[in-house]
Amino acid sequence: QKRLLENYKGRESVTKSGKKIHVFANIGSVSDVAYVLENDAEGIGLFRSEFLYLGRSGLPDENEQFNAYRQVLQMMAGKKVVIRTLDIGADKNVDYLGLGQEDNPAMGYRAIRICLEQPDIFKTQLRALLRAAKYGNLAIMYPMIISVEEVKSIGEIVKEVARELDEEKVPYTIPEQGVMVETPAAVMMSEELAELVDFFSIGTNDLTQYTLAIDRQNSKLDRFYNPHHEAVLRMIQKTIDGAHKHGKWVGICGELGADTALTERFVQMGIDELSVAPSMVLPVRSKICEME
Ligand code: PEP
Ligand code: MG
Repeated sequence: QKRLLENYKGRESVTKSGKKIHVFANIGSVSDVAYVLENDAEGIGLFRSEFLYLGRSGLPDENEQFNAYRQVLQMMAGKKVVIRTLDIGADKNVDYLGLGQEDNPAMGYRAIRICLEQPDIFKTQLRALLRAAKYGNLAIMYPMIISVEEVKSIGEIVKEVARELDEEKVPYTIPEQGVMVETPAAVMMSEELAELVDFFSIGTNDLTQYTLAIDRQNSKLDRFYNPHHEAVLRMIQKTIDGAHKHGKWVGICGELGADTALTERFVQMGIDELSVAPSMVLPVRSKICEME
């Protein structure tokens, strides 16, 4: 099995009839890049930037972030790297932000909501990302989006950051930008959202949680948490159709993207990219290469 999978290294992920899918990998730290390269992923489809913020006593400054992002971009040597902006709150708490206790943290003050509410934190991350974009093939992705208004506000903030960098004569590039589709609201608004962004990445972990109204952390509900639920699959189809209507690419970066029982279905649905744990890159590629 392992030897067979080795044969898929250095190959494209393309079906027998010639449909090419990008198989990327998910990572949560700079050191994970070694596994991405070892498993021959075509890029990084989800880099969870939380690692910079968790397990410490204060916010990481711009240069610390810039150095981490640049390092990953350079190690990936021109391959695409999708970095997700801060997605804390809910299960990932950080004391120094004083977020406090909430009755419904999964539906609470988290991710892009914190960034839009506390733009200084967001702008520091964006400055680091725009500066790092000069060193490789970066894309930025925003989590927990529910509306067109949020995407427009993000656009304004990015413009402001770019203007400030211009004034300071600091070199930067504005990279490709996309949103995570992980709320039913984003699915329902996918056509409108697609007009404003370069790509979508479907976060099936949260999308399943919010579609089925089942806490993804509550193990008592494991038998009800079914990401194969037809409602979830239809959400995925609607998102793909919304993106393609405006010529944008769409991927899956939640756990479901690595479920090889569904790979063929995703390809039939029109998915462009699957971003999976590094160890699942070759199994997913072999599945794609074996299908019509
Ligand atoms: C998801 O929700 O599917 C996702 C990829 O993000 P996270 O698991 O980090 O919430
Ligand atoms: Mg999520």
